[in-house]
Amino acid sequence: MQCQPRNSPATTLVACHECDSLYRFEPLVPGATARCGCCGAVLLRYPRGGLTRAIALYTTALLLLLLANAFPFLTLEISGRQEVTTILGASIALYRQGMGELAVVVLITTVLGPALLISSSLYVTFSVHMRRYLPFTRTLLSWISDLAPWVMLDVFMLGVLVAFVKLGNMATMHVGLSLYAFVGLILVSAAASAAFDPHMLWQQLDYRKKS
Ligand SMILES: [Zn+2]
Repeated sequence: MQCQPRNSPATTLVACHECDSLYRFEPLVPGATARCGCCGAVLLRYPRGGLTRAIALYTTALLLLLLANAFPFLTLEISGRQEVTTILGASIALYRQGMGELAVVVLITTVLGPALLISSSLYVTFSVHMRRYLPFTRTLLSWISDLAPWVMLDVFMLGVLVAFVKLGNMATMHVGLSLYAFVGLILVSAAASAAFDPHMLWQQLDYRKKS
């Protein structure tokens, strides 16, 4: 049986990814979920807390990113000699060791990628929340999904944990403030990503454009 689109004065056409039924929806309220009337699949979900929650989480993530890059990450103590490392310092050390390509990848996935993704997401969410079109809102929103694969904070953290195990017997390691901020950044980024729904943002932008 083919389900028919609901007759409503709504604005956005949504296709069910399970059974291809078509629906029209007005922007949902925070915490609401729209399901397919035929198969029950989730069509749209507006994260609880709305845009305010996403803005708060991305602002926190941005502050944690600044902290993570402003203070020492680890201090290694070998035979009475101390080496203080930072996240940027790790990239520079890799470059000096002749691993330029790896240094660029670490720089992009742990500093530049997260900085661009977090600031773009914050800008777009703030723009929609303020109910005005700040410049480049649509362009940035279309770029955000392309930026996400270039953020690998958890992979970097995994590498740090491996280094802890490998160097544990050779050196004394002191955790810096930056590492705590980095762990916080991973957790807050995951929560911010869950509160960020590009489909809902596109819907709100289109809705305001038509209204
Ligand atoms: Zn369906």
